[in-house]
Parts: sequence; C-alpha cells; structure tokens
Amino acid sequence: MVCLGRLILAPGPVAGLARRKENGKSLCIPIVTHTVMDNPCLSCGACCAAFRVTFHSSELESEGGRVPDGLADMEGREHARLKGTDYASPRCLALCGKIGEKVWCGIYSERPSPCREFAPLAEIGNYASACNRARARHGLPELPVVDG
Ligand code: SF4
Ligand code: SF4
Repeated sequence: MVCLGRLILAPGPVAGLARRKENGKSLCIPIVTHTVMDNPCLSCGACCAAFRVTFHSSELESEGGRVPDGLADMEGREHARLKGTDYASPRCLALCGKIGEKVWCGIYSERPSPCREFAPLAEIGNYASACNRARARHGLPELPVVDG
C-alpha cells in the first residue's frame, strides 16, 4: 500500500486473498488488513473495470510467471491481456465483489505487473488522474490528492 498524502492506495482494490478448501471446492476469502476508511480501494475497484491490462507473456504461469493462464488472452506473440479488460464494458474477470461497495482481487498475489505498479506510479503523480478517471467512469467521487 502507498500513500498519496491523505489518499491511500493499494495496488488494485484489495488487501489480500486467501484460498480455502471446503467440501472439495476452492473458495476465495478476502483478507481485509485495512479498513475502508483507511483504503478507498477496498470499496472501489474502478481501475479493474476501466482499463485494458496488458503485460509480458513471461508473467504467465505457463511461462514461469504467476498469472493464471486461464485469466488471460494472448495479444500477439509476446503479450497477454487480462480477460475482460478489453470488453466494451471492461471488467477484469479476477475482480470479485461490487464496484463502489466492496471489492477484492481474486488473484491478488498472482496479479500481473501493471496491477502492482498502478498505485506506486500514482504516488509520484503519474496515475493519480487515471485513478480518478476510472472512478468517474463508475460514478464514484474524485479522491483528493493532498501533499502529506
Ligand atoms: S481506481 Fe483508484 S481508488 Fe479505485 S481501486 Fe483503483 S487505485 Fe484504488
Ligand atoms: S488482476 Fe484484475 S482484479 Fe486483480 S488487480 Fe489486476 S485488474 Fe484488478
């Protein structure tokens, strides 16, 4: 998690995810380590349903990386794209929950580099406007960026 003054961002909308087996089924259990008051990402998720997420194919599980292949489409020979992020109404298939209320990433620890980099780049001002553009797209209010 990084802090933009009073605006606190996590890379993606989640604090974490655990997997648990129950009756032979694998369940996604969100781990909330920050309150929604501390971290607006936990009640947002807009950036996971606003932008195309493309990354190098070496991040795919089948190529030695961690991103599950089933959640990605190939984009040419060297790149992959998270399924759902190029739809007319984009929404990453790994995004769980309801945007603007409570969300988490279904592959938080395996998410690709663009998801990991989003908030750190926002911290230095590169993506702060993108964050608020994504929020606006989902009818969510702009978050203030205030120097600490
Ligand atoms: S759009 Fe911004 S506030 Fe919303 S989940 Fe993404 S980084 Fe967090
Ligand atoms: S993998 Fe999908 S749900 Fe997870 S942070 Fe990236 S875009 Fe969001």
